[in-house]
Amino acid sequence: MRLRDRFIRFMYGRNGVDQLGQAESFVLLALVILGLFFGRVPVVRSILYIVVLAGFIHMYFRMFSKNIAKRQKENQWFCNWRYQFAIRRNKRRVRREQRKIYSYFKCPMCKQKVRVPKGRGKVCITCPKCRQEFVRKA
Ligand SMILES: [Zn+2]
Repeated sequence: MRLRDRFIRFMYGRNGVDQLGQAESFVLLALVILGLFFGRVPVVRSILYIVVLAGFIHMYFRMFSKNIAKRQKENQWFCNWRYQFAIRRNKRRVRREQRKIYSYFKCPMCKQKVRVPKGRGKVCITCPKCRQEFVRKA
């Protein structure tokens, strides 16, 4: 039997490489590269060595695991987390962009946040929630 066929037969019924496995291999590679730069410090080298070793064991354990249902659950959890992370990052980016265009103020009455386009000088703001009027420099 050819080596490739033997490998395919070996991997049959096993989890293989999923998104979590891909991310893990990427992080481990980054840590190994990091180790090339900071591995001279004994403490850093020991910690990196343990973390990378544990990471590789975990990654290969998941890859060869036959408990596919459990591995898929872990992978699903990871995908959800990654998705939420991307959403949060996008929200932060939008807020950062908005801060260039808008000034943000709090209503002195009800603490409602109000945004006003920047560069208008002194403006009279009417709170959209409680109708309180106040003057700010935008
Ligand atoms: Zn208000």
